[in-house]
Amino acid sequence: MESDEESVSELQEVWSAERIARAPERQLRAVLKALCKVDVKLRERMTQALEAVQSYDGEGEESEEDEGEDNDGGDDEDTLDVDICYRCNKAWVRDYDLHGDCRYHPKPLVVDDSAYVWEGWIWEDDGLQDTPENRENMPEGFRYTCCDQTASARGCTYGKHRSLEDKASSERRRQRKRSASKISQE
Ligand SMILES: [Zn+2]
Ligand SMILES: [Zn+2]
Repeated sequence: MESDEESVSELQEVWSAERIARAPERQLRAVLKALCKVDVKLRERMTQALEAVQSYDGEGEESEEDEGEDNDGGDDEDTLDVDICYRCNKAWVRDYDLHGDCRYHPKPLVVDDSAYVWEGWIWEDDGLQDTPENRENMPEGFRYTCCDQTASARGCTYGKHRSLEDKASSERRRQRKRSASKISQE
């Protein structure tokens, strides 16, 4: 059942967040460095996220007194609330996104059958057109329905960054509203 799977992955997320919260900085750095070495995607995301966080928070060099020591919690209560925006896929820091720095496409991306990249594409042989890989590797084969630009085009609309939790809670609100109006109609 899907809900079981969901709750398992939610649990894992909580556990891993706990672990990360407790682990000394020295270990976290070492693990992150090792992961970034073998995972190009992660490395790119990590670099982008760090740049984004630093653009809000400053580069904040390590203070001299705790240099070389593992600062495992204790007095460092100054945590950052970092999220990955589901609209633009970029990292942002909650409470700092005051200007609405998100650039996104409000309407979905669809396959553009008339694009040259699909010439001679036979789905029996070549597979599905709309896959995450194709969206990334053949951006010319897709168009956003909001602005008619290809998949690699920067967002046509400015707004606030939103986390997946924001999305889920606004969907829940919408659902509640819908079921409330249904009940009142009955
Ligand atoms: Zn657009
Ligand atoms: Zn965003």
